[in-house]
Amino acid sequence: MLFTYIDLLIIVNFFHFETIHFEIIGSSIFIIMKYSTIKYRDIANGEGVRNVLFVSGCTHHCKGCFQPQTWDFDYGDEWEENIQEEFLNQCEPSFIEGVTFLGGEPMEEVNQKGLLPLAKAFKQRFPEKTIWCFTGYTLEDDLLKEDGKAHFSTTEEFLSLIDVLVDGEFVLEKKDITLQFRGSSNQRILERNDKGEWVTWSKKMR
Ligand code: SF4
Repeated sequence: MLFTYIDLLIIVNFFHFETIHFEIIGSSIFIIMKYSTIKYRDIANGEGVRNVLFVSGCTHHCKGCFQPQTWDFDYGDEWEENIQEEFLNQCEPSFIEGVTFLGGEPMEEVNQKGLLPLAKAFKQRFPEKTIWCFTGYTLEDDLLKEDGKAHFSTTEEFLSLIDVLVDGEFVLEKKDITLQFRGSSNQRILERNDKGEWVTWSKKMR
């Protein structure tokens, strides 16, 4: 199949530029997500044993961020079909409870577009397993509102596939290393109840 890669310099905000990649196949354009790390059989980023994907690109630039190298949308490797297949294959063992999306920022537009096909394929293959997603955006203001900073054409469907969402920027002044699965006390662990409403995760201890 004939395809071409192009890089496009985008203005993320007034002072900040990033490069993102597009793949052109026929007359269609696909944005290519990049990722920095995959951790298989991880126990630190969500409930139970999980496979964790760290995507690249984050515009929050929180003070005290533990991995500022992942702010760059061009950091790491391109997320390709064979890598996704291997990632899904690694989810087969029954002791793997699910996957976790981290960053960088999974809710940046390029990453939502890249993660949505993965989330769909994962849920199709493993409907009983869970997806956790960590985001610096807030659910009500940035993701759910139509004019929210991270509300895109993909957001509603992507959120519908996520079982547990940890939201909010990392705030250095509110850092607390005793918190469960969070870095600062403003961040929340949310899940959907039977009515589809986002509520505090039922297993939250601290
Ligand atoms: S949202 Fe996460 S990756 Fe982005 S700057 Fe904040 S702590 Fe770092």
